[in-house]
Amino acid sequence: MKSIILIAPPSAGKGTISNILSEEYSIPHISTSALLVSAIEAGDEQGNYIKKQMNLGNLVSDDIIISLVENRIMQDDCSNGYILDGFPRNLKQAKSYDDFIIKNNRNLGIVVLLDIDREQAKKRILGRVSCSNCGAVYNIYSKDTRPRIVGICDKCGSTLSRREDDKEDIFDNRFDTYLKDTKPVLEHYEKKGILYKIDSSQELSKVIEQVERIIKEKND
Ligand code: AMP
Repeated sequence: MKSIILIAPPSAGKGTISNILSEEYSIPHISTSALLVSAIEAGDEQGNYIKKQMNLGNLVSDDIIISLVENRIMQDDCSNGYILDGFPRNLKQAKSYDDFIIKNNRNLGIVVLLDIDREQAKKRILGRVSCSNCGAVYNIYSKDTRPRIVGICDKCGSTLSRREDDKEDIFDNRFDTYLKDTKPVLEHYEKKGILYKIDSSQELSKVIEQVERIIKEKND
């Protein structure tokens, strides 16, 4: 199994789909927002800076995120592949990641774009709730991904809450950042012939089916 990079606009379902694939293929789900939330818990100057950027919907500095991701990938549980959710988010991160992979004799794997337009993504964001304990993500307006009990995580029983950055104006900034900074990453991996695109506005089961097909054909 090679690694899978999931790239998507905000609220396209990266977190949900990563969790499902992680269980199915028994490989770790590396979520950059979860890595950043752990770094915030340190309560130091860097943690405060990260919190501020995330709450505004801005990207956190490349140096911080690159170091967090590289440290995580070097852990033993990543040696048989992993799902990268939220990285690389701009060309500098992508080139740095490519160099790191080459230096460590690993394979770039595949890059999957979960595509969704701004209006659909905005609708979804209003229903999103997540678990601050285990990171599971739900959508109260979707029959596929709503929690079994309102406000309670199916997986660990903790209370669900809305993300600070899921407010409408911050969502707009995050979507603009995606168009400006992350879209060039797609072109970068398309040129390398490892980019696959999926319409993520379809129902979840169809999206999963298509990702699984790509993994089977391209990534075994
Ligand atoms: P996400 O949950 O992937 O939408 O990420 C939430 C927020 O975490 C983003 O709006 C950024 O503030 C920050 N973040 C996540 N991944 C990255 C990254 N690769 N580079 C910089 N900031 C990031």
